[in-house]
Amino acid sequence: MQVLRQDAGRRRREKFPTHSSRDTDLAFACVPSRPVQFGDLFAKVERVASSTCESLLGAAVLLSLIPAVPAGGQSGSAAGFGGYTPADEAALGREAAAVIRRHGTDMTDGIDVYIRDLGRRLMTAIPPEFIYREFDDAVVVLDDPELTSVALPGGPVFISRGMVEVAPSEAALAGLIAHELSHVALRHGTAQAGAGERYQLGAITGRLIGEAFSDHAAGILERAIQFPASAYFLTYDADREREANRMTSRIMTRAGYDPRAAAAMIQTIAHQRERAGRRWARCHSVPSSEDEPAMPGVVWTEPRSPAFAVMQARLGASPPRPNDDTTHGRPAPLRVVASGVTVPSGESRPTAAGDLLRLSVPANWSRLPAGNAVVFAPEGAYRASPDGPAAVTHGIGIGVARSATGDLHGDVYALLTSFGDGNARLTWTPALRKVTIGGRRGVTTTASNVSPVTGEFEQVSVVAVHLPDGSLLYVVGVAPQDEAGVYRNAFTRVLESIQILN
Ligand SMILES: [Zn+2]
Repeated sequence: MQVLRQDAGRRRREKFPTHSSRDTDLAFACVPSRPVQFGDLFAKVERVASSTCESLLGAAVLLSLIPAVPAGGQSGSAAGFGGYTPADEAALGREAAAVIRRHGTDMTDGIDVYIRDLGRRLMTAIPPEFIYREFDDAVVVLDDPELTSVALPGGPVFISRGMVEVAPSEAALAGLIAHELSHVALRHGTAQAGAGERYQLGAITGRLIGEAFSDHAAGILERAIQFPASAYFLTYDADREREANRMTSRIMTRAGYDPRAAAAMIQTIAHQRERAGRRWARCHSVPSSEDEPAMPGVVWTEPRSPAFAVMQARLGASPPRPNDDTTHGRPAPLRVVASGVTVPSGESRPTAAGDLLRLSVPANWSRLPAGNAVVFAPEGAYRASPDGPAAVTHGIGIGVARSATGDLHGDVYALLTSFGDGNARLTWTPALRKVTIGGRRGVTTTASNVSPVTGEFEQVSVVAVHLPDGSLLYVVGVAPQDEAGVYRNAFTRVLESIQILN
């Protein structure tokens, strides 16, 4: 019987970390992933803040037997990473981290030191060919009771105190951090952004990535603007999840942890549904502890970590800080009654969205670029800011994002679910209707929301179509409920005018 002990891993780690064929032998058995069951998901439609990919937790997307393939010669390369060099990627991550920090507070009281040291131990175990000197290798714990974590492109990794609190062991917590570090080391955000999407409306900035992760109240059209950043940089397809899971396994074994502890962690998250972990579950798939490991007979000693117990006790004694955006120097959501917004002009004005679309919009609407999306809105219906339109009460948003599911209904569900972050009173009709946009067959649905801007009910129209490369084109119209009739006519005119350019 082969016996690997914790201290054997430690000895390896103390030396310079090397690529070992043994590491790849330690991968779990592969169970094919089950496609997301959208019938199940639509049955849960009332839970608008739930995740599109929660079912992936049960889907047991597993580590593959195929060994992790180092992306040879990638160091310093922008090829295959959407034109981003490691330095560009690190800059995106820095900008996004600054936004996340505006919405959250770093933990102190030694908890930060513990997490930093654990992060370093795992960083040291990353195979050297995946280490970039430009990247920010920090692991930061935020004072947030939700179950969240995020790997920003080029680092850093943020995890919430909620994740630390529910971790059943140091190894489980290490599994979560190792998984996030794997996405950074494998450059998954930019690899995905460059995965052949031909259709772009603009560039995605670090600010959009940070906003997409932050859970503060934001209007539907702001969420629509942020959606591509989330789809490209913060949620990963099944192949990349498998790759990350394989890398996690390598990092864990090299750091001296049982790699199956990552599965124990996700089981823990899965059993805490009332605390959601919804974004995490939507963004990742993790090996299930139910499944057979590919190393029968291997016995791992349970890691003893008095420091972990001390840290968790300290966390229990430290009350969470109120998560109030206004305490972080961010203005409270604009609470105004939108008034004086002129009705859509009967005259139309031809315009374009990137090189992708031609369309006509009411002549009294302005075009407001916002990353990989564009907003058209009348005067008085938005607040201009250097970062793009904010607090939009009337108008239309058009964006292009990576298809999250490969299925149009699933993609619409993902879009609406992302709108539900920060819009807890959003409800929508799960039955999608067929529609034709730019000669392509799409789907549409209508949602109702309480605007975080005005506190009043608003109507949301969502239309989506897949482009020839499979990416998702979506058009979202928003107007106050009592003006919905006149705006519905305007949206229809815009939709009928859309031409998709090839
Ligand atoms: Zn993942």
